Amino acid sequence: MVKRNENFTKLTAGYLFPEINRRKKLVAEKNPNAKIISLGVGDTTLPLSLHITEGLLKESNALSTKEGYSGYGDEQGMTSLRRKISENIYGGAVSPDEVFVSDGAKCDISRLQVLFGKDASVAIQDPSYPVYVDGSVIIGATGKYNEKKGQFDKIVYMKCTPENNFFPDLENLPRTDLIYFCSPNNPTGAVATREELKKLVDFAKKNKSIILFDSAYSFFISDEKLPKSIYEVEGAKEVAIEISSFSKPAGFTGVRLGWTVVPQLLSYDDGSSVNKDWNRVMTTLFNGASNVAQYGGLYALDNKGVVEMKETIDHYLENTRLIKNALESFNIKTYGGTNAPYIWAHFPGKKSWDVFEEILNKTFVVTTPGAGFGPAGEGFLRFSGFNTRENTLEAIERLKKLKF
Ligand code: PLP
Repeated sequence: MVKRNENFTKLTAGYLFPEINRRKKLVAEKNPNAKIISLGVGDTTLPLSLHITEGLLKESNALSTKEGYSGYGDEQGMTSLRRKISENIYGGAVSPDEVFVSDGAKCDISRLQVLFGKDASVAIQDPSYPVYVDGSVIIGATGKYNEKKGQFDKIVYMKCTPENNFFPDLENLPRTDLIYFCSPNNPTGAVATREELKKLVDFAKKNKSIILFDSAYSFFISDEKLPKSIYEVEGAKEVAIEISSFSKPAGFTGVRLGWTVVPQLLSYDDGSSVNKDWNRVMTTLFNGASNVAQYGGLYALDNKGVVEMKETIDHYLENTRLIKNALESFNIKTYGGTNAPYIWAHFPGKKSWDVFEEILNKTFVVTTPGAGFGPAGEGFLRFSGFNTRENTLEAIERLKKLKF
């Protein structure tokens, strides 16, 4: 028999979202007539725009012709798409040869974990998107789990709470090789200011660390003063990799398309190029994003596509505004939700899984318990704007009946 990779025994619980689904299913079985509404998971709900589907169809149809058929493509992604990402998203601040198109941000995060390996020390925001910690556990980069603290001993947890305006206390942070940073943040909805990102870049420079900047929700930033990319900060190309995605702005959670920027200026302590190694990872462990999906991406980034993506985002942000206002009217303190599709709601003194269960059982509304995102998420719930307007309004009506 094969010995189980012991890193799997260290995963603290099932992945958060399957656990939520399990509990949701139990309630559905007990209440077969109940309509359960999810304000929980971050999956998109609006259909793809017809314009984007046109791009998907164009490539699909071409694949059935002798002239239009294509097999394996360039592992880095189609040149036209890399150019469009470079120009339309970064305004030329990164060059196409620094952009690597992929099958999504989550997949890139796991490949980055392979790139840096198990010996790289990591700092992770607490709370955070679970993949940073769980992926690090799977490759063996975390050390032992401390039950009492609810933390791994080799991870530096950067507490991000209302007390520090969701930005870590860098002055008291030990050096690590890698620093995961997500803005707009999942789950807190916080967006780092330009000054804060500058501090982060300076901190990484001083410590010779590399920032893994997750900007999967950058399209949700409407406040022009807030940075959408870490490369808006001077010096970031020497210390930061940026991971992003078409999933949330274009509804590509199922189509699968994302990208990662690895600047040419980024190097290891021996001076060798990180971009070169990343290219090696992508050519060895990945064979390029689906050609069909990449056509969809090209259409999403043309003039019409950008307007339509904005309409989709505005729809979700209006849902978030409605939920946030409703929660505040019940005297629940909320954070985020203005430049991000997530609202971080505080239930002081309560366990987040208890509040999750109470809301689910009494109103059939699914939320996400903050504790699932890290120890500092205890006492919070994440509400998401990714739903139809009708469901959002109905969920709000149901929540009104609860006495928080
Ligand atoms: N990064 C963050 C912060 C996310 O919340 C998500 C998905 O919810 C992802 C990455 C995954 O994106 P993708 O669908 O491109 O894999």
